[in-house]
Amino acid sequence: MSPDLTITDVRLTPILVADPPLLNTQGVHQPYTPRLIVEVVTADGTTGVGETYGDTKYLELARPFAEKLTGRQVSDLNGLFTIADEVSVDSSRISGQVDVGGLRGVQTADKLRLSVVSAFEVACLDALGKALGLPVHALLGGKVRDAVEYSAYLFYKWADHPEGVAAEKDDWGAAVDPAGVVEQARRFKERYGFTSFKLKGGVFPPDEEIAAVRALAEAFPGHPLRLDPNGAWSVATSLKVAEEIGGILEYLEDPALGTPAMAEVAAKTDVPLATNMCVTTFAEIKEAFTKDAVQVVLSDHHYWGGLRNTQQLAAICRTFGVGVSMHSNTHLGISLTAMTHVASTVPNLHHACDSHYPWQSEDVLTERLTFTDGKLAVSDAPGLGVELDRDKLAFLHRRWLDDDGALRERDDAAAMRVAEPDWVTPPVPRW
Ligand SMILES: [Mg+2]
Repeated sequence: MSPDLTITDVRLTPILVADPPLLNTQGVHQPYTPRLIVEVVTADGTTGVGETYGDTKYLELARPFAEKLTGRQVSDLNGLFTIADEVSVDSSRISGQVDVGGLRGVQTADKLRLSVVSAFEVACLDALGKALGLPVHALLGGKVRDAVEYSAYLFYKWADHPEGVAAEKDDWGAAVDPAGVVEQARRFKERYGFTSFKLKGGVFPPDEEIAAVRALAEAFPGHPLRLDPNGAWSVATSLKVAEEIGGILEYLEDPALGTPAMAEVAAKTDVPLATNMCVTTFAEIKEAFTKDAVQVVLSDHHYWGGLRNTQQLAAICRTFGVGVSMHSNTHLGISLTAMTHVASTVPNLHHACDSHYPWQSEDVLTERLTFTDGKLAVSDAPGLGVELDRDKLAFLHRRWLDDDGALRERDDAAAMRVAEPDWVTPPVPRW
């Protein structure tokens, strides 16, 4: 008899996880960042897990979504999008501006919905795989590689969060100049074997970031390098940077904000441009590809709406001769495993994917995921191949419960104001 895969219970657990003081153009990461852990339970007792952004606006949307999920089949993945259409989004929760903290383009109701869908889709795939004895990659058509390569995600960072702020201590030290960035890269290479390096820019004036990339090229000759200022530069500044260090870059990521500006930059340089900001939805593809504004799309299964949508995006990129790789925001092991499964099925994945995971000292899994030679092995165990650690989940949920609300919404500018009271989110372009 086949297993009864009717969903009988859905659990939502918001948590706060430690995050180091990583700098970006909006400010600095908070000491703790919200994530949402999703579990679906089927009638035969199988549990699947998923993960997504944990700010209140996601949680508020996930609650009615979870109610509608009960009674449906865990295999009804297309139905998740129907539910998404039925769940209304509180428009006051959407700024209409560039998303705060996440730096993933303009915030819309659709992106919010899809980010919630992604967690349920991953949880359903996990449960389905477990019930059928198949890994998630097999449910997605099968892996075309046994391991997925990731890049070292370098950040300018402070040694500590501002004095007086409760935070976990990290052992990475400060990186606020070229020497600090090179030292951080060296440790990434030693600890995880990464060979591609991405520097999160838009923090210091472009000349300082150019110097950091040059220092990386000197310290790690031949290694792929990327620089991502999150749209902080004007077209002229983007072209100046491309002119100066284009020869040592694998690609330049979102130098300028928005498709028209990216198209202007792309028209005047041979340096490939990557994005996770101007192509973040299917609706944004046509204009960007028609204008040849981007050469690599950095997918993110959270805001693209799951693993199968990520495969569809990859197919469209392949059709247009545009490269594809993967973006990362602060995430835990469930999402990293989900990324790895889908990445293993994408034939045209020719760039190492991004991952924040090394920065996350806390997780909700029984075993930490380990990179070998910069790669993660693709699990062949049923489902995602990971197991929730309920004690860790409860501990991180307790932290969320105990928070007075200040940290439940990620706000990098607010976190920066603790150190610099006059700080405001810089206007774009900043340089
Ligand atoms: Mg980016």
